[in-house]
Order: sequence, then C-alpha cells, then structure tokens
Amino acid sequence: MQIAKYSLGTGDRFGLQGKAQLAAIEKARRRGVELSIVWNKSHREHCIVGSSPQDVRNEADKAVKDLNYQGQYFVDADHIGIDNVDLFMDSSDFFTLDVADFIGRKSDKKSLTAFLEKQSRFIGKLTIPGINRPLEVSKEELQSIAEKYLYAVQEAGKIYRYIKEKRNGEDFVTEVSMDETAKPQSPVEMLFILAALADEKIPAQTIAPKFSGRFNKGVDYIGDVNQFHQEFDEDLCIIQFAVEHFDLPSDLKLSVHSGSDKFSIYGSIRELIRRHDAGIHVKTAGTTWLEELIGLAEAGGKGLEIAKQIYISSYGRFDELCAPYVSVIDIDRNALPTVAEVTNWTSLQFVDALRHDQDCPEYDVNLRQLLHVGYKVAAEMGQTYMDALYENEDIVAKNVTENLFDRHIKPLFL
Ligand SMILES: [Zn+2]
Repeated sequence: MQIAKYSLGTGDRFGLQGKAQLAAIEKARRRGVELSIVWNKSHREHCIVGSSPQDVRNEADKAVKDLNYQGQYFVDADHIGIDNVDLFMDSSDFFTLDVADFIGRKSDKKSLTAFLEKQSRFIGKLTIPGINRPLEVSKEELQSIAEKYLYAVQEAGKIYRYIKEKRNGEDFVTEVSMDETAKPQSPVEMLFILAALADEKIPAQTIAPKFSGRFNKGVDYIGDVNQFHQEFDEDLCIIQFAVEHFDLPSDLKLSVHSGSDKFSIYGSIRELIRRHDAGIHVKTAGTTWLEELIGLAEAGGKGLEIAKQIYISSYGRFDELCAPYVSVIDIDRNALPTVAEVTNWTSLQFVDALRHDQDCPEYDVNLRQLLHVGYKVAAEMGQTYMDALYENEDIVAKNVTENLFDRHIKPLFL
C-alpha cells in the first residue's frame, strides 16, 4: 500500500466535515494536483471529544461515497503507541508510530554495539549530495546518537511488528513520528535514525521529525524562516541519501505535524519539494474545528451565540483547557478579549478576530489559540453544538473547504 507523493492530513474533531474537507481535495484535483486525503485523529483527541476510531472510518467512508470520490484516502491512527494501538487496529490503514517519549532511553549493549559497528562506515567527513558542507561524524557523536535514538526506533519496530501481525495481511501505511519532543533532530541524527529504521525493517513511508522553530497549534510558524529552509532542504537531501543507502521505501517522505496555518514556511516547503522532486505529508487538525466556529459566528443568531458561549467558557477554564497543549501554544492571557467585550461582538467582529487572516488588523492570535484548545467545551455541549452545525451546514462547509483549499493547498501545491 503506497501513499501518493502529496498527501494532506485532515483532522476533524466532531466528524461532520468529511465531505467539506474532501471537496477541497477534489478542487485540487480539478486544478491538476493529486492529493491523498488522510483523516487523522489521535487518542488524546478521541478521549476529549468522546469519539472512537471507528467513527473516523465511518466518516471517511461516507464522505468518499457521498462525493463519489475515486482517489486514495486513509484513516490515520495518529500518535499511537503499543498501549492504545489496539483501539485503532481495524478502523485505520495508516499508523503514526509515536516514539518521542522513548528518545533518550538507552538501548541494550548488544544492539548498541552492533549498530555502531555497522554505521562506523560513516565516521569522518561525510558528503551528502545537495548539502554543500561536509558533515562531520565523530565516533563519539555516532555513539551519542545511537544512545539517544536507537531504543526509540526499536520501540517503533515493536509497534510496527505488532500491527503487522494483528492486521493479518491487511496492508497499511507506516509513519514514524518524533516531533513531540523538546529539541529538533539535526540532519546527522536524521541520517542515523533512518539507518536504524531500515535495520528494524520498518517500511516507513513518512517520517515526522521535530523541526526547529515553534509549530504552535492553529497559528503561523514562529522561528527563523531561513534556518527552517536550510534544515528542510538538508532533511530532504538526507532522505534521498538514506533511500539510496539503506533498505527503505523509495518514496519515503517528510511529514509536517501541526502543519496547518504555517503560512510563512509554505513558500520554502513548496519550493524545496519541487526542487528535490520530493513528496510531502502535511497534517492539519484543529484548523477544521476553528472553521466550524467561524461558520457559526458568521451565520449570526444562535450560531453566533454558541460561538460566544464557547469563548466565554474557554476563557474561564483557561488552565484546564490549555494543560494538555501547553508545549504547543503560546497565549498572552492578559491580551485576550474579555468576556464583556466578546459578549457584545457582532458576527463580523467574532469572525475577524478568529479567521486566520494576518492582514486583517482585528485578527487575534491569542483568541485563536484559546479557541483551538476549547473544543472540549463544544464537545460538552453535545447535541446543542452538533445541531448548530447541522443547521448551518452550508456556511460551515464553505469555510472548511475554502480554508483547506485557499490557505493550505494553494500555497503548498498550486
Ligand atoms: Zn504530531
């Protein structure tokens, strides 16, 4: 089972926007870009919303049927580990093996020695085509990389083999993710991680490293864009080199997590994947939920009231809602609009504050991030929230499709 060169991960908190998301993919196809769609949802999200992996499968199948979509689509068991993968086994055909928590644990001596022996061929000055400075790999560095990453890759191997056995011949796509960690991986680290993945015989088709800079949820990239450009460029060179030297799928590609709304690096990604003729997987998630809120606010009346209620409640439950996301949001609490202010907002004021239009002076990066994590409040509203989505289906869908197509697919692929 091979995923297409370009793919887009579309999360959907409440499971009603599958069709609107797929419409964006269809729109891209009509403009000449083939994109696979991957509905991703993590265990964390399922727990907060109260949904199950099978719900995502049902949503995806239904959207595909309703639109008579002929392209490739997947359901991603996002950020799973050995403890929760069983929940996803039957409904998913894309598994993101998250081993970030195992980085830094030391593997056993025998494995370490074997790895070091095998990879010592790269010690010294290493020339990677496309990288215009020789990489220096010392024995000590190789050892410290092995001590830092080998165990995590072995854990990925364990999960991969477990899935393979349980799936009993049912094919699936494998992604390995190491993005939810404090420090970015250097190109040299990336090289040896890929070597270890090949040793574990994990046919990874996508790999999600931690890039430098901040990939906060629902907002633009924060960091040095030039540095990202260079790093992304070098990672693509490393992947090409690794594919030629190790036993890895030839179409192995990078996966960018929290990839929605990172407008200031889309130019780099677009340019570099074209230059390297490389593929890419971009995961978006909460951005669809925020478009639901924008649609409700835009509809006015009861929809706007619900959007306001969600903000007001999120404002009051700031600490609780932010806690699970503390490493991927940066909210200036004092700059948030107050409850009194938002209560009196018009439709337009709410929409302008929330919609990710950086040219709009009313756009509010703090409010947007708080609402991003506020989906728990909507989940607790239950039927009231869902009914509002049904009642305003058209306007919500329009926002969902436009956001994916105009703000994401266009700058990345068209
Ligand atoms: Zn991730």
